[in-house]
Amino acid sequence: MTLDEILKEIKNSEKIVILTHESPDGDAIGSSLATQFLVQELGKEADVIIPEYSRLFNFLPNASNILEESSMEKYDLAIAVDCADEKRIAQKQYFENATKTIVIDHHGTNQMYGDLNFVNPVSPACCEVLVGIFQYFDIKISKEIGTCLLTGIITDTGGFRHEGINPETFEFTADLIRIGVNIPDIYKRVLRTNTRANFELAKRVSNRMEFLEDGKVTFTYIDAKDEEEVGAQPGDHEGLVEIGRDIEGVEVSIFIRQKEKEDKYKVSMRSGNTVNVSDICFVFGGGGHPRAAGCLIQGTVEEVKEKIMKEVKKVL
Ligand code: 5GP
Ligand code: MN
Repeated sequence: MTLDEILKEIKNSEKIVILTHESPDGDAIGSSLATQFLVQELGKEADVIIPEYSRLFNFLPNASNILEESSMEKYDLAIAVDCADEKRIAQKQYFENATKTIVIDHHGTNQMYGDLNFVNPVSPACCEVLVGIFQYFDIKISKEIGTCLLTGIITDTGGFRHEGINPETFEFTADLIRIGVNIPDIYKRVLRTNTRANFELAKRVSNRMEFLEDGKVTFTYIDAKDEEEVGAQPGDHEGLVEIGRDIEGVEVSIFIRQKEKEDKYKVSMRSGNTVNVSDICFVFGGGGHPRAAGCLIQGTVEEVKEKIMKEVKKVL
């Protein structure tokens, strides 16, 4: 069983690093911190390296331990969480240089790029995969660990609303309420609180929203100038793709964001009930989940829009 090998690998390593994807969301950060707790419970220490993340997640237990980088050149073991593709790992050199690598994830498009891969594509969050690992290793989930895990589950399920939630999601949540995890507080912090810059970006995104294909598709964008003007910080674009998704009659929402003043856009896609946006993003070298996916496309706003729409029209 892969999990037995993972346990052995952690126990045999001294210098361990935990990494996740760039532009990390609550599941990425929650999974990273929960994995650090897991390693500690097994009697080892691990660095968590996340170069940039939204300050809204600073409330998470041990968030102050997060490093932007490390002076260690070669770790014995690197663990990547919530990341489908080695290319997307933030500070991926620590992964590339490590003697052994482990991947823990829930993306159907995971490239299985670790020496050991534990991937459950039907899990609604990487944090839910980790719950299973804590249980398998028979490690008690404390209130602190539970807060990290539930943060990932709440963000990736949109507050228990997306497909993929299952009886275990709620059973586990019930157990956490019993040990004192404050769900309303997490919910408020990660789903209801927006930064002022995020609100300003949402206004621009709404004003620019185009309705295509008889209102079945929305398209909108922000560029580097927008982010500069509103003083955007890491994570301030989170949730903007959902504005289009939640409009009546919309099946596919497309939101693109300029990458570092170049002719390159980070694409975020969401779908309602039928279109598999992960398949569309896969065409462009990206991936994700059937109802939420992303990729990186070269071009101007109009060119990127055309490239994506060509693929969207095939499946509408
Ligand atoms: P978001 O639109 O919130 O950035 O990402 C939605 C989902 O797609 C997440 O699960 C994310 O990990 C995945 N995703 C976003 N961009 C990429 C990408 O470029 N490559 C891959 N493989 N997955 C991506
Ligand atoms: Mn995730």
